[in-house]
Amino acid sequence: MTAVRLDGNEVAGGILASVTERVLARTQAGRPAPHLAVVLVGDNPASEVYVRGKRRDAERVGITSSDHRLPGTASTADVVALVKSLNRDPNVSGVLVQQPFPAQVEVEPVVEAVDPVKDVDGFHPVNAGRLLLGQRGIVACTPAGIMRMLAEYGIELEGRRAVMVGRSNLVGKPMSLLLLGRNATVTVSHSRTVGLPDICREADVLVVAIGRLWYVQPDWVKPGAVVVDVGQNVKPDGRLGGDVDPAAAEVAGWMTPVPGGVGPLTRAMLLANTCQAEDARRPG
Ligand code: NAP
Repeated sequence: MTAVRLDGNEVAGGILASVTERVLARTQAGRPAPHLAVVLVGDNPASEVYVRGKRRDAERVGITSSDHRLPGTASTADVVALVKSLNRDPNVSGVLVQQPFPAQVEVEPVVEAVDPVKDVDGFHPVNAGRLLLGQRGIVACTPAGIMRMLAEYGIELEGRRAVMVGRSNLVGKPMSLLLLGRNATVTVSHSRTVGLPDICREADVLVVAIGRLWYVQPDWVKPGAVVVDVGQNVKPDGRLGGDVDPAAAEVAGWMTPVPGGVGPLTRAMLLANTCQAEDARRPG
């Protein structure tokens, strides 16, 4: 079997087209475009690249954006103060604080400082809690994007066995909750799980987010399963590789490529979340 390619670029294109329409509808009605404020602490080269990409994406759909930089010596209090000033700024729809931070900056106080209404990453405990309770809120971009993609491809989740490999707050936990919310029967596994290959073999839908190049082997995949590979690892040749051995595409029924699978969805959902944040703040 050769798996159907779950094309993240194509689905992301649809998401971006609908964001563009929503932004245009706002601006044509004389209202401001949504505005994304990006906070960057220090000069991590990878973060610089991500932030540039995010701002470029925003521009393409008509969302305005701004950079707010702090030196690598900034304290937690400095970052919190900047975030709070962006919370108060009526022109800002969404606040994104690019991680990782320099070692002296604590993640939790910064994440909690973001106004939940402007929390376009969906990391604030209020938004995480809403997801847990099945309430409407802003959902973390990567799992939200994966759900959109599964829906686009008409993949049924109700009653199916889903296995999430990885339990991070960023991907694994919210993804498990979203699958549960769609009535899949969900198993969450992690680095201390015993017998992972057998657990993976039970999955009709296998989502892997562990950060280990080609860790999940083709013979861990149930024939015909849906495989979503979230991993973004740098291969020895400098290119990106996933957490699942690409040869698993010979066993799976559906599979995301890396690159071109989950990555573009994450980027697109940031902009969808920025629109959602603006709509929640200033409906109309
Ligand atoms: P993370 O915070 O490092 O979490 C990794 C998770 O994987 C942890 O729960 C860990 O278990 C589990 N794990 C590690 N080794 C394992 C093993 N051998 N067997 C089973 N579970 C194992 O990572 P993350 O933020 O979730 O990201 C995971 C990967 O996805 C990375 O490659 C990251 O770059 C990528 N990613 C991609 C996108 C995208 O847009 N494509 C977005 C976000 C992340 P413990 O909890 O027990 O430590």
